[in-house]
Amino acid sequence: MIKFLMLLFVLALVSMNSFAQPDFSKAKCNTCDGKGIITTRTTCEHCEGGYNDCPNSKCDAGLVACEVCNGIRQLLVVCSSCEGSGKIDGEICDNCKGNGQILQKCESCSGMGFLDCPICDGRGEFKCTYCDGKGYRDLSRDCDNCKGTGEVDWPAQNK
Ligand SMILES: [Zn+2]
Ligand SMILES: [Zn+2]
Ligand SMILES: [Zn+2]
Ligand SMILES: [Zn+2]
Ligand SMILES: [Zn+2]
Repeated sequence: MIKFLMLLFVLALVSMNSFAQPDFSKAKCNTCDGKGIITTRTTCEHCEGGYNDCPNSKCDAGLVACEVCNGIRQLLVVCSSCEGSGKIDGEICDNCKGNGQILQKCESCSGMGFLDCPICDGRGEFKCTYCDGKGYRDLSRDCDNCKGTGEVDWPAQNK
Protein backbone atom coordinates (compact mmCIF):
# COMPACT_ATOMS: atom_id res chain seq x y z
CA MET A 1 0.00 0.00 0.00
CA ILE A 2 2.78 2.43 0.84
CA LYS A 3 4.49 1.58 -2.42
CA PHE A 4 1.30 2.36 -4.25
CA LEU A 5 1.00 5.76 -2.53
CA MET A 6 4.63 6.51 -3.37
CA LEU A 7 3.94 5.70 -6.99
CA LEU A 8 0.94 8.06 -6.97
CA PHE A 9 3.11 10.75 -5.40
CA VAL A 10 5.80 10.33 -8.03
CA LEU A 11 3.21 10.37 -10.79
CA ALA A 12 1.76 13.55 -9.34
CA LEU A 13 5.20 15.12 -9.22
CA VAL A 14 5.90 14.17 -12.82
CA SER A 15 2.59 15.51 -14.06
CA MET A 16 3.04 18.71 -12.05
CA ASN A 17 6.48 19.05 -13.53
CA SER A 18 5.33 18.70 -17.08
CA PHE A 19 2.49 21.09 -16.32
CA ALA A 20 4.86 23.70 -14.94
CA GLN A 21 7.17 23.48 -17.91
CA PRO A 22 5.39 24.47 -21.11
CA ASP A 23 7.38 25.56 -24.13
CA PHE A 24 8.96 28.74 -22.91
CA SER A 25 10.90 29.41 -26.06
CA LYS A 26 8.10 31.54 -27.58
CA ALA A 27 5.55 33.78 -25.95
CA LYS A 28 2.76 36.04 -27.05
CA CYS A 29 4.00 39.53 -27.76
CA ASN A 30 2.54 41.88 -25.17
CA THR A 31 3.17 44.99 -27.22
CA CYS A 32 0.65 44.01 -29.91
CA ASP A 33 -1.30 41.42 -27.86
CA GLY A 34 -0.15 38.72 -30.28
CA LYS A 35 -1.74 40.35 -33.33
CA GLY A 36 1.54 41.35 -34.93
CA ILE A 37 0.01 44.68 -35.94
CA ILE A 38 -0.15 47.95 -34.07
CA THR A 39 -3.11 50.16 -34.95
CA THR A 40 -3.12 53.81 -34.06
CA ARG A 41 -6.19 55.99 -34.47
CA THR A 42 -5.47 59.43 -35.83
CA THR A 43 -7.88 62.29 -36.22
CA CYS A 44 -8.55 62.95 -39.89
CA GLU A 45 -6.75 66.13 -40.87
CA HIS A 46 -9.03 66.75 -43.84
CA CYS A 47 -12.29 67.34 -42.03
CA GLU A 48 -14.02 68.16 -38.81
CA GLY A 49 -15.80 65.14 -37.45
CA GLY A 50 -16.00 63.42 -40.84
CA TYR A 51 -17.82 66.20 -42.66
CA ASN A 52 -16.88 69.47 -44.31
CA ASP A 53 -18.94 72.41 -45.41
CA CYS A 54 -20.23 72.05 -48.95
CA PRO A 55 -17.47 73.15 -51.38
CA ASN A 56 -20.01 75.05 -53.47
CA SER A 57 -19.45 78.74 -52.62
CA LYS A 58 -23.07 79.53 -53.54
CA CYS A 59 -24.43 76.89 -51.21
CA ASP A 60 -26.10 78.23 -48.10
CA ALA A 61 -26.88 75.41 -45.70
CA GLY A 62 -27.59 73.10 -48.62
CA LEU A 63 -29.61 75.56 -50.66
CA VAL A 64 -28.65 77.60 -53.70
CA ALA A 65 -30.59 80.51 -55.16
CA CYS A 66 -32.64 79.61 -58.20
CA GLU A 67 -30.61 80.67 -61.23
CA VAL A 68 -33.68 81.22 -63.39
CA CYS A 69 -35.33 83.82 -61.12
CA ASN A 70 -32.22 84.72 -59.07
CA GLY A 71 -34.12 83.90 -55.91
CA ILE A 72 -36.81 86.50 -56.63
CA ARG A 73 -39.38 83.67 -57.04
CA GLN A 74 -41.11 85.44 -59.90
CA LEU A 75 -40.29 86.05 -63.51
CA LEU A 76 -41.30 88.90 -65.75
CA VAL A 77 -42.82 87.22 -68.77
CA VAL A 78 -44.52 88.49 -71.90
CA CYS A 79 -48.27 88.81 -71.39
CA SER A 80 -49.97 86.01 -73.24
CA SER A 81 -53.26 87.89 -73.59
CA CYS A 82 -51.89 90.79 -75.61
CA GLU A 83 -48.68 89.07 -76.68
CA GLY A 84 -46.66 91.89 -75.18
CA SER A 85 -48.33 94.79 -76.96
CA GLY A 86 -50.18 95.98 -73.84
CA LYS A 87 -53.35 96.49 -75.83
CA ILE A 88 -56.15 94.37 -77.18
CA ASP A 89 -58.25 95.87 -79.98
CA GLY A 90 -56.99 99.35 -79.07
CA GLU A 91 -57.94 98.92 -75.41
CA ILE A 92 -55.45 98.57 -72.59
CA CYS A 93 -54.91 94.89 -71.84
CA ASP A 94 -56.56 93.94 -68.57
CA ASN A 95 -54.24 91.07 -67.89
CA CYS A 96 -51.03 93.13 -67.80
CA LYS A 97 -52.55 96.56 -67.21
CA GLY A 98 -50.90 97.71 -70.43
CA ASN A 99 -47.42 96.78 -69.43
CA GLY A 100 -47.14 93.98 -71.94
CA GLN A 101 -45.46 91.89 -69.27
CA ILE A 102 -46.64 90.14 -66.13
CA LEU A 103 -44.98 88.60 -63.08
CA GLN A 104 -45.34 84.87 -63.03
CA LYS A 105 -44.30 82.31 -60.48
CA CYS A 106 -40.90 80.82 -61.36
CA GLU A 107 -41.49 77.28 -62.54
CA SER A 108 -37.88 76.16 -62.08
CA CYS A 109 -37.97 76.54 -58.31
CA SER A 110 -41.76 76.25 -57.94
CA GLY A 111 -41.75 79.79 -56.58
CA MET A 112 -39.46 78.91 -53.68
CA GLY A 113 -36.54 81.01 -54.92
CA PHE A 114 -34.02 78.31 -54.08
CA LEU A 115 -33.14 74.78 -54.97
CA ASP A 116 -31.23 71.97 -53.31
CA CYS A 117 -27.53 72.39 -53.91
CA PRO A 118 -26.57 69.92 -56.64
CA ILE A 119 -23.18 69.28 -55.05
CA CYS A 120 -24.25 68.35 -51.53
CA ASP A 121 -27.81 67.37 -52.41
CA GLY A 122 -29.23 69.86 -49.94
CA ARG A 123 -27.30 68.54 -46.94
CA GLY A 124 -25.01 71.57 -46.65
CA GLU A 125 -22.12 69.39 -45.67
CA PHE A 126 -19.89 67.07 -47.55
CA LYS A 127 -18.68 63.69 -46.40
CA CYS A 128 -14.91 63.63 -46.15
CA THR A 129 -13.48 61.31 -48.78
CA TYR A 130 -10.29 60.69 -46.81
CA CYS A 131 -12.00 59.09 -43.84
CA ASP A 132 -15.41 58.30 -45.37
CA GLY A 133 -17.20 60.43 -42.79
CA LYS A 134 -15.69 58.76 -39.73
CA GLY A 135 -13.51 61.69 -38.66
CA TYR A 136 -10.56 59.43 -37.91
CA ARG A 137 -8.25 57.06 -39.65
CA ASP A 138 -6.76 53.82 -38.42
CA LEU A 139 -3.13 53.49 -39.34
CA SER A 140 -1.71 49.99 -39.02
CA ARG A 141 1.91 48.96 -39.00
CA ASP A 142 3.84 45.84 -38.11
CA CYS A 143 4.71 45.56 -34.44
CA ASP A 144 8.34 46.53 -33.86
CA ASN A 145 8.69 44.28 -30.83
CA CYS A 146 7.85 41.02 -32.62
CA LYS A 147 8.48 42.11 -36.22
CA GLY A 148 4.84 41.42 -37.05
CA THR A 149 4.86 37.77 -36.00
CA GLY A 150 2.90 38.22 -32.77
CA GLU A 151 5.42 36.04 -30.92
CA VAL A 152 8.64 36.84 -29.13
CA ASP A 153 11.47 34.78 -27.66
CA TRP A 154 10.72 34.20 -24.02
CA PRO A 155 11.31 36.10 -21.84
CA ALA A 156 14.00 38.46 -23.01
CA GLN A 157 11.95 40.41 -25.55
CA ASN A 158 8.65 40.68 -23.74
CA LYS A 159 8.24 44.09 -22.26
ZN1 LIG B 1 4.15 42.38 -31.32
ZN1 LIG C 1 -36.84 80.35 -59.52
ZN1 LIG D 1 -51.33 92.07 -71.72
ZN1 LIG E 1 -24.07 72.45 -51.16
ZN1 LIG F 1 -11.98 63.19 -42.85
